[in-house]
Amino acid sequence: MANAAGAVAPVGELSEAATPITTPIAIILFGSPGSGKGTQSKYLVEWLKIPQISTGDMLREHIRQGDAIGLAIMDRMRAGSLVSDELVNQLVFERISQPDCNRGFILDGYPRTPTQAEEMMRLLAARGSSTGKSPGEVVIHLVVDYNVIITRMSGRRVCPKCGTLYNAVSRPPKVVGICDLDGSSLTFREDDREDVLRERLAQYERQTRPLIEFFRATSDRLIEVDASRETPEAVFERIKSELRGVLGQNQFGQDRARA
Ligand code: AMP
Repeated sequence: MANAAGAVAPVGELSEAATPITTPIAIILFGSPGSGKGTQSKYLVEWLKIPQISTGDMLREHIRQGDAIGLAIMDRMRAGSLVSDELVNQLVFERISQPDCNRGFILDGYPRTPTQAEEMMRLLAARGSSTGKSPGEVVIHLVVDYNVIITRMSGRRVCPKCGTLYNAVSRPPKVVGICDLDGSSLTFREDDREDVLRERLAQYERQTRPLIEFFRATSDRLIEVDASRETPEAVFERIKSELRGVLGQNQFGQDRARA
């Protein structure tokens, strides 16, 4: 909900302003590591009431559980390399087949390669023919300057318990090192170390950024948002207004009823 300064409230306070959409939608949050995909996903979840599907979170969960998948991918993830297309395609396929994705979902960190992008388009089309309702896709490209990313990510912390993201500069916790919501000690991701981060950014440049051309060619709903200088709340306001623009106001049933 916007306050007098035009900022939105923290994620946990957004539920009253929730705006369920009227037709299924697949939001693809696209951008380099550190562009704010995780934070914006959480705002979108609160607003649209559709689940976030973060391939990074799913893969980290396998590592945390120490299962066969986790053991197989651990070294690649620690080095900042991408894991196999086959594995992430399978994880996404299984996840979007679950009933909570019927009204749509937010893809955070997927697709990241041309093979994944093609598979994603196939999955969305197949979902449409099995449910009779194909989720229309919208790509949101968060554009951020390289130097801003390096600064931003070196201050990044996460709550290991509830997943809330903090940043020493743009979103500090009330008490240094402690989660505002549950009091856990904040940690930082091992792959946010500067050498690993540089490798992740190099991978992004090589394998992922070129997908923008794929999206330009296959989707007429590509939103580009400058996520460099503004606060996360201001970026979210921009995303909301752009989304309303491309989807049309009639997608937003509750908002319309209130208007
Ligand atoms: P993220 O949390 O999205 O920054 O992802 C963290 C790490 O998980 C990446 O550096 C990759 O090792 C792996 N990963 C996440 N998503 C993908 C994907 N779509 N394809 C391949 N590897 C991925």
